[in-house]
Amino acid sequence: MQHQSKLPNIGTTIFTVMSALANTHNALNLSQGFPNYPSSKKLNDLVTNAMNNGYNQYAPMAGNLELRLAIANKYNLLYKSTYHPEKEITITAGATQAIYTIISAFVNVNDEVIIFKPAYDCYQPAIEVNGGKTIAIQLSAPDYNINWNDVASKISSKTKMIIINTPHNPSGTIWSEDDMLQLQKLTKDTNIIILSDEVYEHIIFDNEQHQSACLFNNLKQRSFITASFGKTFHNTGWKIGYCCAPEYLMSEFRKVHQFNVFSVNHPAQKGIADYMQDRETYLGLNAFFQQKRDLFLSLISKSRFKFQPSQGTYFQVLDYSEITNEYDVDFAKRLTKEFKIASIPLSVFNEEGKDDKVLRFCYAKTDETLVKAAEILCKI
Ligand code: PMP
Ligand code: GLN
Repeated sequence: MQHQSKLPNIGTTIFTVMSALANTHNALNLSQGFPNYPSSKKLNDLVTNAMNNGYNQYAPMAGNLELRLAIANKYNLLYKSTYHPEKEITITAGATQAIYTIISAFVNVNDEVIIFKPAYDCYQPAIEVNGGKTIAIQLSAPDYNINWNDVASKISSKTKMIIINTPHNPSGTIWSEDDMLQLQKLTKDTNIIILSDEVYEHIIFDNEQHQSACLFNNLKQRSFITASFGKTFHNTGWKIGYCCAPEYLMSEFRKVHQFNVFSVNHPAQKGIADYMQDRETYLGLNAFFQQKRDLFLSLISKSRFKFQPSQGTYFQVLDYSEITNEYDVDFAKRLTKEFKIASIPLSVFNEEGKDDKVLRFCYAKTDETLVKAAEILCKI
């Protein structure tokens, strides 16, 4: 039998490729974004308690209500923004499922979706498998600044959605209040939906404020916000996240979600709901990761890599143009094989052929690993 691929140009994700290469060559793995230290014992115990206390059958389709309440309280507390826990918050199997489901629920054949590149790699395939057309706005290292006239020129009557991501993976940059206001101005009086990927909302440095879409009234009414507990609670393997949106959007989302996953891991939801009662569990992350960023950067300050300190996320982009002119994918692979350190080349998130000679390193690692990584990087 023969089938025409729905995604003819898509191979295996770079995260899988680089982690596998790191394992094969026994390299330090600073490529795929995940911590190499344990998830909190308290949280693990709360999930175990949930299992022992009977939370072992299907959760409600939209998620455990205590968890949705905890999330609603968080939005009130941090952003003075109200989401109705029953109607406007849904628990998902990681942010990835939320993103896929949002796109599937709204993007029709030939609809246009604007994304900013470098872009996290799950957006474009989800758009295209649904028959949509990706309209890319390419940004450049090291600042990844947005030219809002360019964005305005890309918006058309076919624009169904705009996907944004701040703090940004892979660049580690953040959007300013002015960026959000520009987006709000451009989308006002349109039917454009915003998908605001805010999985790194609690990882932002140097006292900067996270610019959530819910802080801007006109944006909020057209936005889905997606989040990931894997990022916030150091357990990417649990694959639990959520999304928030006004009821008229969320009701469409749930039409797809109920047949996509129906509901997600119940004991983990209950455990996280209990854990979130202590706000420090998520509010302490900025300081925790800023210490790691600063340690890593101070240790590599004398290396030949150039950088601007990451403003958020747990990734640092390093410019290697003083070392070699190699294509970034080749250089990342060579570093893994020869120097035993794995990273992510940024060009894979760009428009074809755009190679700024930068690699992304994940510093959600023990200090010991960061010291070892820096020793290697200083020798390159
Ligand atoms: N969006 C971004 C920007 C991410 O970095 C990630 C994962 N690292 C996701 C979405 C997916 O999150 P999850 O692992 O919860 O599916
Ligand atoms: N989000 C993680 C990263 O950016 C990877 C997630 C995945 O492997 N799909 O590294």
